[in-house]
Amino acid sequence: MMEEIIVIRCMDRRGGKRLDQKKKTESAQGRAVYELALGGAEVESVYDDVDSRIENGDVVRIDYMPHGSTEPGIKGCGAVATAQQVARGQRETSERLKERYVQRLEGMGVELEKLSSSEAETAIARAEMNALEEHLKKRGLNVPIVYSPMAFGKEDEQHGEKLAVMFRFPTTRTMEADLEALKKTGTSLKQEDTYLVSCGNPERALVSLEMAVSVIGAKDIFLVATNDREFNALSKFQDTLAREPFMNGASISLRKIDGNRSKIKI
Ligand SMILES: [Zn+2]
Repeated sequence: MMEEIIVIRCMDRRGGKRLDQKKKTESAQGRAVYELALGGAEVESVYDDVDSRIENGDVVRIDYMPHGSTEPGIKGCGAVATAQQVARGQRETSERLKERYVQRLEGMGVELEKLSSSEAETAIARAEMNALEEHLKKRGLNVPIVYSPMAFGKEDEQHGEKLAVMFRFPTTRTMEADLEALKKTGTSLKQEDTYLVSCGNPERALVSLEMAVSVIGAKDIFLVATNDREFNALSKFQDTLAREPFMNGASISLRKIDGNRSKIKI
């Protein structure tokens, strides 16, 4: 069985290229990278995914990849910034966003109001990693968690006018390959414009998708399936999404791509 690293990362559009690079590097060493992506790299929504991957595979470690050491003038995490604005009473959001990104973090001891943005990013990362560690301990799973923040710079800033968000089930495939496969369905998305949300239970992704649409301003949601089972699950989820008030004119497209074509080839 192939050794595997689980990555939990922020959905940020700038993380896509980083992760693809990491997948290629690790693949050359004989390790697969299984990617989970959520707004603010929150861990609660991926507990089930992490558990079953560890129980059924050869997971050697979990790399926790939120934002870190952002250069001056470069934007930090949108989810963290939003949480701080809400905590300070500078922004209104839905109850769902408030519960996940403000109350939950404050409940874990993060003083969102008082901290600078980079302090908040670090404090949240620590709290999320502690929560994950506690969870694994309770389940009797023994896999090290490594703090591996993504530092973004000027080279990551460029993006188009229209942002999109893509949901796919967790995978070791690169995002680049899936975007290439999406082209065959008539959709040409640029990686630098595309947020990625990825977890095993689409309902769990709802709060990240809401963040991407209502806060970040993504206009199009792409639900990407690679087989009939995924397609049917996403078809149901599409109906749920369509009823969400946050959609407010944003579009939803459900696509089936050939996942075999997008496996990493060395
Ligand atoms: Zn972020």
